[in-house]
Amino acid sequence: MRIVFVGPPGAGKGTQAENIIKKYKPVHLSTGDMLRAARDAKTPVGVEADKYMSAGQLVPDEVIIGIISERLKRDDCKNGFLLDGFPRTIAQAEALDKMLSAANTPLDVVLELKVHDDELRKRLAGRGRKDDKPEAVEERIKGYHSITSPLLDYYGKKELLETFDGIGTTADVFARIEKVLEKF
Ligand code: AMP
Repeated sequence: MRIVFVGPPGAGKGTQAENIIKKYKPVHLSTGDMLRAARDAKTPVGVEADKYMSAGQLVPDEVIIGIISERLKRDDCKNGFLLDGFPRTIAQAEALDKMLSAANTPLDVVLELKVHDDELRKRLAGRGRKDDKPEAVEERIKGYHSITSPLLDYYGKKELLETFDGIGTTADVFARIEKVLEKF
């Protein structure tokens, strides 16, 4: 299964991604995790990316597209993957389409986890990650609406989009996701 997972910061994507991985076994490709690992290892890409991450801004497209295109070439992606946090811009989505059509491995589905902004603020305030400071949180929510949410229309037109309500217990939300993933 080749899946893209889209949702605002704090929607619960990480938790649901874990559930999906456990049950369906795609490789988990989280660009946030990759960037945090690069930052902690102080690689040149990580140090550069941290400037954007700590301000709640997106890392430049060419950086993240380079990381993902290398990662998708690895053998473990052949049995399916869950892209978590990528793409986040139309340019990234177009680059992904090119990579996947060159390899003849189109996406199966794009999952959107929907949670309203006030609930996101509440959840992020309690999380305590470095980029969860109130200013960075507002910037990330704003960025989601202005830069990332056009992807919903992009994938909707391709008839790949499945939207889920992200409010409820982890089990409730996962049950909604399972219903769709069972089709594949
Ligand atoms: P996440 O854990 O997915 O919320 O990502 C944490 C941070 O990493 C984001 O706020 C961005 O600064 C950066 N990041 C992760 N994925 C991307 C992406 N696809 N494009 C640009 N920046 C990204």
